[in-house]
Amino acid sequence: MIIGVAGPSFCGSTLTNCILGELPGVTGLGETHWILDRARDKPKRGKCFRHLDECPVFTPEVLSKLRAGGANNLYANLKRIVSPNVLVVSDKNTFQWGRFGCPDVLVFPIKPPATMLYSYVRRGKNLNNVVEQLASEWEKLLVLGEGRLMVPFDLTALAADPEHTVRELCARLGLEYSEEALRPWDSTSCFFGGTGRWPKFGREFRSTGLAWDAVFAKLKAL
Ligand SMILES: [Zn+2]
Repeated sequence: MIIGVAGPSFCGSTLTNCILGELPGVTGLGETHWILDRARDKPKRGKCFRHLDECPVFTPEVLSKLRAGGANNLYANLKRIVSPNVLVVSDKNTFQWGRFGCPDVLVFPIKPPATMLYSYVRRGKNLNNVVEQLASEWEKLLVLGEGRLMVPFDLTALAADPEHTVRELCARLGLEYSEEALRPWDSTSCFFGGTGRWPKFGREFRSTGLAWDAVFAKLKAL
């Protein structure tokens, strides 16, 4: 089974990938599209985000095998070469899943609207365009996922009661719970993509990422 973390950029997909990736029998691979899309200006993106050139799993040889056959074969190659486990991919949007095929199950991280918008606005995006883009991407994802299990993952509830919220997610996905999933920042598992702030992620998650009233105040002050 492949679980896709679905949503627009900055929706909390890396966090969700890494939480799920800590569950028994689950491998969270993150934004695997970077295995194929090695942007010239972001060469690190084509490597394991956690270990870069030191990665014991995603060596240059393994990466080259994963690229064989192009986009159509990426997920099958990951299952065959990396892990037969339940795989989590946070390729997350309809553009990528048009290339790789839609995952079997979609998990939608849900952030409070103010935190979602703040992630864009602080990067200089126009608020009106952002609202339109977000609505349009979610709509396309819901159409893409029609007929599949689609599960929301409420990040506000996660911040308030991590164990209950992760247990509930596990139950809906038919996965076994493990408390490792509550400390994804302590993990050393390999994954692709991410926000670039992984070393500080624990603090980020607890301070600005989910303290939505503080973010809302910042948004109002812009
Ligand atoms: Zn690695």
